[in-house]
Amino acid sequence: MTPLPPGSTIGILGGGQLGRMLGMAAAQLGYRCHIYAPDPDSVAAEVAAEFTRAQNNDISALTAFADSCDVLTFEFENVPVDPLHEIEELAPLHPPVGALDIAQNRIAEKNYARELGGSTAPFAEVTDLETLAQAIDEVGTPAILKTIRMGYDGKGQARIKAGDDLGQHWDMVDQQPCVAEGFVEFDHEFSVILVRAQDGEIRFWDTPWNVHENGILAISSAPAPPEILALQETAQALAAKMADAMSYVGVLTCEFFATADGPVFNEMAPRVHNSGHWTIEGAITSQFENHIRAICGLPLGDTGLAAKRVEMHNLIGKQADNWPALLADGQNHLHLYGKGASRPGRKMGHVTKLFF
Ligand code: AMP
Repeated sequence: MTPLPPGSTIGILGGGQLGRMLGMAAAQLGYRCHIYAPDPDSVAAEVAAEFTRAQNNDISALTAFADSCDVLTFEFENVPVDPLHEIEELAPLHPPVGALDIAQNRIAEKNYARELGGSTAPFAEVTDLETLAQAIDEVGTPAILKTIRMGYDGKGQARIKAGDDLGQHWDMVDQQPCVAEGFVEFDHEFSVILVRAQDGEIRFWDTPWNVHENGILAISSAPAPPEILALQETAQALAAKMADAMSYVGVLTCEFFATADGPVFNEMAPRVHNSGHWTIEGAITSQFENHIRAICGLPLGDTGLAAKRVEMHNLIGKQADNWPALLADGQNHLHLYGKGASRPGRKMGHVTKLFF
């Protein structure tokens, strides 16, 4: 493993806030970033050396992009997998495409966690109205119907109660292939965030306790309460097994429900994650910096807490308009993502506070 020297170029597929924060961490270490994204406005490209605006399946644009980079990564998990196979010979790609493939399919990721000894909500595949009815019989109510692909932040989801008109729910998910999940009675939600280096070394950050509102992450804080800490070892062991089995390199996030019967795996993100934004100021080394270190073959940084307690609040939609008041508290670390108009449910920024 030869470390990539400063001045090398890191290619990032995806142009959102995660790419922006990766780009800033990469710049700190002396790297250049080249962003590849289909959207005209990329908040990542604003802080990067180069920007290719092209579709994710444009093989000639992808080839030119990969040729111009020394290592490739992604910040968006719905990048189509097939075109990536065409470019992974041109520059090392971390995390592996296989991880993306699993994470893009809610059924595949649950099966993967189960195969490695994890527990998940009861689930059944739904392809039409008939299989929806069978699935609801199987997993019971209340249930959550989620599109197998492309869902995030509670989008592409419907909650089903006993006696509901299933046809209406089926229309709500646009009759897309879905997974029906039994409702997990959880006390808390948390995530395991780890980084795996090219030599297989794994480091975990403190486990954040995550609070969601309307299916969107609202608050992450660390250290987590004792009820979560009691489940941490089992959850970390599963996440590490998943990372090892995928020969993973970079930051991997696994989301869990904390239940009386132990941790229940919900989903994984093969990338830096919103529930790790607190690590920018709240950990000795942030998730962004360690992702860059891992993919560039550098030694990993310390993942320990930098304060007694850390709390991160997302700024969703109009909440970001409150920036003057947030800045008036000199203890707040304010991050705004540079997105133009705030829309309901849109992640516009976050604010982190450390307690000593
Ligand atoms: P997801 O898109 O899978 O992350 O779901 C978004 C949020 O919906 C989760 O963070 C939970 O708060 C809730 N949720 C998802 N699946 C379930 C489930 N099977 N049981 C209970 N709550 C769930």
